[in-house]
Amino acid sequence: MFRQNFKRRRAQEKRHFADSSLETHSATLTYPYRLNFYDTPPTLEITAEEFEQWAIDRMRVLGEIESRLARNFPPKELEASLRPILDKYLPLGSNASMARASSSDPTPVDIKNGPLHFDENNEQHKRLKDHYSHFILRLAFCRSQELRKRFVHAETVLFRIRYNSDDPEERAAFAQSCNLAWDPVTDSERSELSKKLDWLAETDKDSSFFKVDFERVPDLVADRRVVLHNGKAYVPRSQLQSFVQTEFSSRLDRALLQTVRALPRLEEDDRLVPLLNHLAVGFEAFSTYDPAQVGGVPGSADEIRASNVDALVDAHYPLCMQTMHRGLVSTKHLRYNARLQYGNFLKWIGLSVDEALIFWRSHFNVPEDKFSKEYRYNIRHQYGLEGSRINYRPHSCAEIINGPLPARGEFHGCPYRTFSTDTLVASLQRMGINDTQHLAEIQGNVARRQYHVACTQVYELTHPEDTKKYDETITHPNQYFERSYKQK
Ligand code: SF4
Repeated sequence: MFRQNFKRRRAQEKRHFADSSLETHSATLTYPYRLNFYDTPPTLEITAEEFEQWAIDRMRVLGEIESRLARNFPPKELEASLRPILDKYLPLGSNASMARASSSDPTPVDIKNGPLHFDENNEQHKRLKDHYSHFILRLAFCRSQELRKRFVHAETVLFRIRYNSDDPEERAAFAQSCNLAWDPVTDSERSELSKKLDWLAETDKDSSFFKVDFERVPDLVADRRVVLHNGKAYVPRSQLQSFVQTEFSSRLDRALLQTVRALPRLEEDDRLVPLLNHLAVGFEAFSTYDPAQVGGVPGSADEIRASNVDALVDAHYPLCMQTMHRGLVSTKHLRYNARLQYGNFLKWIGLSVDEALIFWRSHFNVPEDKFSKEYRYNIRHQYGLEGSRINYRPHSCAEIINGPLPARGEFHGCPYRTFSTDTLVASLQRMGINDTQHLAEIQGNVARRQYHVACTQVYELTHPEDTKKYDETITHPNQYFERSYKQK
């Protein structure tokens, strides 16, 4: 829906999306650092396609961060597992790598001659994409306290990952440039507080300090990693990272509250509102899995037949598809929503239309003429062979989770959302998950409404042999099947 609306407007592609009240006019734009505090909104013209695509790319990164945090990844594993995702969707190189690519200084992005022609190999352009995508998502995520909290959390983790992987000299230069308003500790203060500072310096292996108002470093105060004196926190240099990150999140927090105030003016822009509403659904709505690119499980066309579908259910189906299949077997029928979800799923795992007709015929308890009249056409329609001949795609988790809820006697939807606690636990136990801690963690994610994260946990627990299981969060039932099937 959103895409259709948006495409209709592609004739007006070259638009200026910046809020004019926030503009700072300049003829060129240079990003001297890889890191960014995003203090200044961008003002360059970009196309509607870039606006949409850059926002979605950043959503994918933030979604993967949120999912990994919910699955309690340790910091090192979190950073390592996110590296390929960052390289794919939001790559950023250091100044040193830019200098290696070009002997001259970083070339500023020239905006004098009209809209940018984005070059994905140009380091300045990558930074510009990072800058824009951050500000676009601010517009989407400033709307409620819950969205703001999620956005600040995920963005701060992204900043931390980049900070930790930055070149130390560039990182120090960036921190200096941020106007962080810290004060040096004078020699007299150093000797006055020597007892306390020396103890901290010894435990922290760092003898140099700076001082800030204590409320600016609440985490360090809580962890007793600073010395407090006269309302000031004396912070060891080694804790600069924590200080910079705290500063990043508090500035972003404040900026989001300012952005809310600018929103009413945006509501008049009918190009932006549908996109921003779509983005605000949440990170999980942006699947990194594209079934069209996969086109079914490779090599499965000859293997996936009506006669062996039953054998795939326990081994490779996510819980939603298991539920529909079992509902089909037990009631000999499925209602419309489940036929749609399950039928598209089967098509994209590689079941041909002829095999689909055999499959549905053998499972439906209806006379032949009723099946031909009421169901044959719909199955062929699903394969793009009747009517408007659209090659329908399978539903993603976001579409299933946000779609219609099942009524009594219906089996569609996401079980992590629709099942009662007892039914969910029984289903998980049937899948072999019996450990009480694992069950509690999965239920915790369900309670936080992170259904796709719960499903990813289930995949990980039931597929210990999959070494690539941490690559991407499950956001699509066909992705779950494909990954599982490749392990066999
Ligand atoms: Fe199916 Fe997605 Fe729900 Fe998993 S999270 S059960 S794949 S809809």
